[in-house]
Amino acid sequence: MLGEAMVLAMFSGDVWALVFLALMLKIPLIGLGVALWFAIKRHDEIKPEVVPLRSQMALCGYCGTRITVGYDANLLHEQAHRIGTRTGEAVFDVESRLVRESLRQPHHYASEPRYCPGCGDQAVWTPIEPIDLSASGRPRLGQAG
Ligand SMILES: [Zn+2]
Repeated sequence: MLGEAMVLAMFSGDVWALVFLALMLKIPLIGLGVALWFAIKRHDEIKPEVVPLRSQMALCGYCGTRITVGYDANLLHEQAHRIGTRTGEAVFDVESRLVRESLRQPHHYASEPRYCPGCGDQAVWTPIEPIDLSASGRPRLGQAG
């Protein structure tokens, strides 16, 4: 008797409506999953190029005020690692402190300021390429005419 009732209930319209609704509600979820999968796949394909941050000097085009833009990320990271392992501090904390300190120096900026600190005008910064002072990059005496 009981089994018969269950079979009947299974084939009643309410149950099928429930199954139908459950499937319908899953379609957006499947869509979301597919979208996520594509996003992850694309993210893997476009690997962001790791550009080591280096400080660079720039000159104001009007008054020649020299500023330093950015900081040597690799250098500070190594420094922070050394300090962190020695003092037991978290490397990330040390590094952020070092970055803050290096940017607090006079004429040091994280990015090029809009107005020149020297003349106060809207500045046009001319970047200066870093000079390679290592032995290989230095022209030898007597070689250059
Ligand atoms: Zn200036």
